Amino acid sequence: MVEKHTCKRCGHSFNSPKALKQHTRSKHFSYYFALNIAPPIIIAALLVVASMIFIPPYLESLAQQATQTPEEITERFLTGHEGLAMHYHVTLRVFVDGDEVEVPRFMGLMPDGRMRYIHTHSTPNRIHIESPIVYNFTLGDIFKVWGKRFDENCFDTYCGNLTVLVNGEEISDPVNYVLKDEDEIVVEVRTS
Ligand SMILES: [Zn+2]
Ligand SMILES: [Zn+2]
Repeated sequence: MVEKHTCKRCGHSFNSPKALKQHTRSKHFSYYFALNIAPPIIIAALLVVASMIFIPPYLESLAQQATQTPEEITERFLTGHEGLAMHYHVTLRVFVDGDEVEVPRFMGLMPDGRMRYIHTHSTPNRIHIESPIVYNFTLGDIFKVWGKRFDENCFDTYCGNLTVLVNGEEISDPVNYVLKDEDEIVVEVRTS
C-alpha cells in the first residue's frame, strides 16, 4: 500500500513528502512560511537578543579578572559578609623547627572593622576566604595578608628546608597553590 501525503490546507494527496512540500510552497506560501521558514528565524533572533543581554557582562567580568593581580586582591576590603561569590575555609598550621607559630586571630581585620577577603575570626589557624568575585586564591595570598615572607625556602625570617603538606600530601610550588575548601595545610620550616 502506497502511503499518501495529504495537504492539510486543501486536501490534495501526493505520493511523496517532497511533492507535498513543493505543493505547499507554491500553493499555500504563508502556511509553508509559518511552518518551515519562520521558526529558524525566530530562534536566530532570540539567540541574538540573548547574546546581547548575556555576553557583555560576561566579557566585563573576564576583563575585571584579567586586570587583577594577587597583590591587588589581598589589599581589597569586604564591606560585609553579604553578596559573596565565594566563602570557604582552610586550616593553616605553621611550624618552625617543630614549634608551632599560630596564625593570628582577627588577621586581615582593620581597627575600623573592614576585612580583607582573606581573614581569620576568633579562631586562630582557621582561614576564611570570602570574596565578592570568583578568584583563585593561593596559599601565598594568605601570607601576604598575614604580612609574612613566604617563598620556596622561607617563612618569615626563618629559612632552610620548607615543606608544605595539604591534606597529608606534600605539594610542589606552595606559593601558587590554589586553596580548596576545607584544605588542611601544614607548613614546616627546618632551619638547620
Ligand atoms: Zn567564613
Ligand atoms: Zn568572615
